[in-house]
Amino acid sequence: MAERILIIEDEEKIARVLQLELEFEGYETGIAYTGSDGLILYREQQWDLILLDIMLPVISGIDVLKRIRATEYSTPIIMLTAKDELEDKVTGLDLGANDYITKPFEIEELLARIRVALRFQREKQKNDVKDIKKDIYFHEYGGLSMHEKTREVNKDGLSIDLTPREFELLLYLLKHPKQVLTREQILDRVWGYDYYGDTNVVDVYIRYVRQKIDKGTNNPLIHTVRGVGYVLKEKTHET
Ligand code: CA
Repeated sequence: MAERILIIEDEEKIARVLQLELEFEGYETGIAYTGSDGLILYREQQWDLILLDIMLPVISGIDVLKRIRATEYSTPIIMLTAKDELEDKVTGLDLGANDYITKPFEIEELLARIRVALRFQREKQKNDVKDIKKDIYFHEYGGLSMHEKTREVNKDGLSIDLTPREFELLLYLLKHPKQVLTREQILDRVWGYDYYGDTNVVDVYIRYVRQKIDKGTNNPLIHTVRGVGYVLKEKTHET
């Protein structure tokens, strides 16, 4: 999928040249000639990078930058500045712009900086995903993942809604994959030591959870071990 670059630049000629060059390189582009139009386009569509002219009438590039960075730091922003705008460059970098290029610029240099900013952003996203998975509250096995804090549950890419009790039950199984757990163990851990009901409640809740995560899939995870209890594991061919 083509990466999308938003050009915010009031000089039409420069904006058009940038658009032609970027589209020739395979990027998708959008142009805004004022800061306010730029902010509208920014909010309405998904952008991978923003080229932002600093000297814009009415709402300056610095103001546009401030408003974007007030909500997020993930979209890379490269400022387009004039030679004598040193102060703006420094301010812009302080406010969270990723880079700047001074007009008049060589298009090859700008393209190189765009590639660097996009690559940096892609690496960062990859690391963010890894960090989420390193999270001690995140558990996964066999296409099932659960987050203890956010309470998010996913099975084979689908989001699953569980009641609090169902969540505790499935979390206990997920934390002990491939281990057979007896009804008594499950009762102790999920319902607590003060629960005096009979172990049938475990079977009832296992059935609820199965309905939600295993029903109609060819990847069932919860298996009954007759006379003992339950085990969460991927189906193997030996069974
Ligand atoms: Ca300008």
